[in-house]
Amino acid sequence: MTDFTMKKDADGVAIITWDVPGKSMNVMSMEAWPLLDSLIDDALADDAVKGIVITSGKEGSFAGGMDLNVIARMKDMAGDNPAQGLMDGLMNMHRILRKIERAGMDPKTNKGGKPIAAALPGTALGIGLEIPLACHRIFAADNPKAKIGLPEIMVGIFPGAGGTTRLSRKLGAMAAAPLLLEGKLNDPKKAKAAGVVDEVVSADQLIEAAKAWVLSNPAIVKPWDEKGYKMPGGAPYHPAGFMTFVGASAMVHGKTQGAFPAAKALLSAVYEGALVPFDTALKIEARWFTNVLMNPSSGAMIRSLFINKEALEKGANRPEAPDQRVKKLGVLGAGMMGAGIALVSAQAGIEVVLIDQKQEAADKGKAYSASFMDAGIKRGKATEAKKAELLDRITATTDYAALKGCDLIIEAVFEDPGVKAGVTKQALAEVGRDCIFATNTSTLPISDLAKASDRQEDFIGIHFFSPVEKMLLVEIIKGQNTGPRAVAKALDYVRQIRKTPIVVNDARFFYCNRCIIPYINEGIRMVAEGVAPALIDNAARQLGFPVGPLQLVDETSIDLGAKIARATRAAMGDAYPDAAVDEVIFWMEGEGRLGRKSNAGFFDYDEKGKRQGYWAGLADKYTRAAEQPDLHEVQHRLMFAQVLEAVRALEEGVLTDIREGDVGAILAWGFAPWSGGPFAWLDIIGTPYAAERCDQLAEKFGPRFATPALLREMADKGQSFYARFAGQTEAA
Ligand code: NAD
Repeated sequence: MTDFTMKKDADGVAIITWDVPGKSMNVMSMEAWPLLDSLIDDALADDAVKGIVITSGKEGSFAGGMDLNVIARMKDMAGDNPAQGLMDGLMNMHRILRKIERAGMDPKTNKGGKPIAAALPGTALGIGLEIPLACHRIFAADNPKAKIGLPEIMVGIFPGAGGTTRLSRKLGAMAAAPLLLEGKLNDPKKAKAAGVVDEVVSADQLIEAAKAWVLSNPAIVKPWDEKGYKMPGGAPYHPAGFMTFVGASAMVHGKTQGAFPAAKALLSAVYEGALVPFDTALKIEARWFTNVLMNPSSGAMIRSLFINKEALEKGANRPEAPDQRVKKLGVLGAGMMGAGIALVSAQAGIEVVLIDQKQEAADKGKAYSASFMDAGIKRGKATEAKKAELLDRITATTDYAALKGCDLIIEAVFEDPGVKAGVTKQALAEVGRDCIFATNTSTLPISDLAKASDRQEDFIGIHFFSPVEKMLLVEIIKGQNTGPRAVAKALDYVRQIRKTPIVVNDARFFYCNRCIIPYINEGIRMVAEGVAPALIDNAARQLGFPVGPLQLVDETSIDLGAKIARATRAAMGDAYPDAAVDEVIFWMEGEGRLGRKSNAGFFDYDEKGKRQGYWAGLADKYTRAAEQPDLHEVQHRLMFAQVLEAVRALEEGVLTDIREGDVGAILAWGFAPWSGGPFAWLDIIGTPYAAERCDQLAEKFGPRFATPALLREMADKGQSFYARFAGQTEAA
């Protein structure tokens, strides 16, 4: 183990260098802790050592954090009594960091001790900042690309190696709040302004500056180890602190609706820790962190949002094929989607030909990129030169001949099979045999659209979500005859534009819309039953969904819902199951209440488009039931409506990998992220309970909740999805 090494120089400074072999960025492992511990012991015991500098051997970074793969497995590795095992492990980490912080000082008088500085060449995240926070001074190289912060909350945990306690004591709860609760990252200059790091120096001066400070005989007692320490901004029972903590509690609850265990635990650790001496606060932090690690949510979130997301981005399901990165992209249709696709592709350095029927329409599509860049320039995120470079890559035209040389075409014209077939033929006539053709359709079967091509193996669905530049997921759909090179091309392209892909098979609404539509429909059904709209939307938000189903349909528009309903009804005939839903949306459409775009939908809006509350006319038409359902029943209806679709998609082979089902659900429509996704949620509640609950819901509300055969079988065997399908790419 050589993750940490130490050299003692002639000036009496011990330089501890963190340099994990074979990794481009340092990550902390369980095995590295004892090594760091022993090096600190050695330096503190050596009379020739006057002080210590802890730095990194990696250029441009200190550390990326704890190895999340390890955190995800910590509970399983913690022995027969995992809570105790976790607590012991955390307290051992605290012991080592506290040793750095106390640096050999006399515990009573605070005399003695050796100064320890952290010298960060760049990025310092998670434990990569918690170790420096235990040091006496933090130096950061002036590297504007570096990111410094504690992003743990983003994957369902919180800084549990003293970062929570130290940062809130260093900055005060108010100033620490965005860094801890939102995982806000800063470049070194901003980190200094925020009070997180102490000095920013040029990269070539970094070690020298840290050494000079160490040798300057500085004061090293931390404020919280001095008598009479008061938390900046006040502890909870101080009048100012009282306001901060009441406000923070309200803000966290407003944002998370209580659905994210880590946010609540973090706040409790800060609040309770602020009332007691520092060492007790660390114990409280460790207890809350143990609590979070014992909750299945943290493991599920790390698995989906970090481990599996990254695996999919790196091509976990990519067929063998040579590099298929796109050089020249054709985009057909410069409307809302086409304009966004052109933008994200040009941002990735790809040459784009953007085609529409009229030159004005094509120009308008390109102008979207210009205004996007203008907004970036205003916020200091882009420059005129970058804008010019990006716009140079986009050719807006009506001339299909400009497509010559394209190796990928994405069609985003009107959702009409005839129009789509026309442009497919026209475009394919201009390009070489190596060009892959993709459609961005959201509802039409890929296998049918592929018939317009004489090379169906090179035809595929690349389904973006709106707004393209914001949404992180791209759903790739294989038609019946789609070949491996088309899949590899789509995956390589999605990687170029830095989004996360899932690959699914062709079926009505593919995967994502297949699950989103029943979620929306279940909400609308409840409206027709007289359930209070606020109960419906709030039930969803308290499950961690960013918006409830009624708000969601207002955003996507009611006429779009009506259009999809008509098309689905025509395709399914008597088997169509959603007449009760249609009654509501066709009526709303008839009333001109089309959602946000018409400033009138399930909500009322003011003239600026701000939501004003639910439309009173709804209750006139659908009388509010005297007895409102139980919150949990509403939540289970909304959850199972989506989750059962995901299970059916797996059963039918539309999904072939549950990782894609879970990652896709969180990124595409914000499926309760704390759960890790639909399959992870079923594993958390247990398949036997899930099947039992479905039986009850089916009896009360109808066959749409009937337990799918796969779930029934798994319930009978007591199986979980991740145990049964782990490591398989062909899940079903
Ligand atoms: P849109 O109406 O904004 O844009 C369509 C564009 O295609 C228009 O600019 C139109 O002039 C152009 N067009 C029509 N016929 C053409 C032709 N023959 N040649 C060249 N250009 C032509 O529509 P949109 O919302 O961008 O949707 C486009 C496609 O993307 C549809 O298939 C839709 O289902 C799909 N989609 C939409 C969304 C969404 O949220 N809007 C999401 C995913 C997928």
